[in-house]
Amino acid sequence: MRLPVYLDYAATTPVDPRVADLLGRCLTQDGLFGNPSSSTHHFGRRAAEAVETARGQVAALLHADAREIVWTSGATESNNLALRGVMRAHRRRGRHLITSKTEHKAVLDVCRGLEQDGCSVTYLDPEPDGSITLERLADALRPDTLLVSLMHVNNETGVVQDLEAVGALTRSRGILLHVDAAQSAGKLPIDLSASAIDLMSLSAHKLYGPKGVGALFARQRPHQVRLEPLLRGGGQERGLRAGTLAVHQIVAMGEACRIARVEMDHDQSRLQALRDRLWQGLAHLGAVILNGHPRRYWPGILNLSFSGVAAEALLADLPEIALATGSACASASAQASHVLRAMGCDAARSRGAIRFSLGRFTTAAEIDYTVQAVGAAVARLRALSPFWPSGNLESLSVDWGAPARTG
Ligand SMILES: *Cc1c(COP(=O)(O)O)cnc(C)c1O
Repeated sequence: MRLPVYLDYAATTPVDPRVADLLGRCLTQDGLFGNPSSSTHHFGRRAAEAVETARGQVAALLHADAREIVWTSGATESNNLALRGVMRAHRRRGRHLITSKTEHKAVLDVCRGLEQDGCSVTYLDPEPDGSITLERLADALRPDTLLVSLMHVNNETGVVQDLEAVGALTRSRGILLHVDAAQSAGKLPIDLSASAIDLMSLSAHKLYGPKGVGALFARQRPHQVRLEPLLRGGGQERGLRAGTLAVHQIVAMGEACRIARVEMDHDQSRLQALRDRLWQGLAHLGAVILNGHPRRYWPGILNLSFSGVAAEALLADLPEIALATGSACASASAQASHVLRAMGCDAARSRGAIRFSLGRFTTAAEIDYTVQAVGAAVARLRALSPFWPSGNLESLSVDWGAPARTG
């Protein structure tokens, strides 16, 4: 086993060696360096063909049509294009958008900007388990609601939203539905041919592809979603996103999606076993609180608070394990997580929260090492705490959460 142990896959994943190999081969003179817009020669046409193959691979992962995939620089740009693009293109029809308080900043910050531009945004409260209920969403709908934006898998808690139910509601009201699927694409089955989702954001670096490339699914059938572009220029991507296509990045994202589709079941069952092993090992410590949903979760993310222990102290004690407090972005600002606060966690619990995120290259040996090292650190820190009661931990009132499966 190699140290340090990487358990921060929700922040970013290493590039799969098969993907890196293909990416490297795109760059040089004997590769696919041509500009895919140069249709007058072989180099351009070969690059364009490779881009279209990759587009088909992304579409196949989502059961979408290749014409519904727009290349972007990542999920942040996809979210910007979806939200701003829809709100601008349809501004005569309405100005209201609904999202939730547990979204990624790449949605919430776009919403703040839209509010400054005169749009009105409703931020839904989640249940304590992180789920958004259909009742709350239905109550928030207005005659001028244009768009609902909800994430599929939450990047801090792993909570999975029930998007089928949401889609049935938005479709029946003629409202567009955008989904930030940066954490779920390539990890959970997604079938857009049988869904009411109109727009979906993807990021390659969350699914073993490179940073700096992503995609937006924008539905064409049965109706076409109208979007106003953010970037104008050479008219690439049917005018929706100008700029010379980054062929090496795009080819790599296509390959990452192909691998994810073929290996999804295998990856998922491995992760479920590793997650169970981690949870069972850590639950033994006592007074461990699960931040998330007991059944509707993706097994690659486990968010826990250890009562009586501050997250920063625990991370400082464990330099050989790469872990996160809240999300990577929130770590930089050293604030308690907005996601956990929205779920009603008190300040101590949300400041004490640690996110363990597992992925394709995580091994059972790494999980066992982590269980042992975290266990020792928690015991040490609790022993130092003047507030920590000695004796029977079960006397503490603690919600243990259930070690359960994706439901
Ligand atoms: C990582 C992430 C993003 C941002 O994606 P980038 O490709 O890094 O811009 C957006 N939403 C969620 C849920 C994420 O996990």
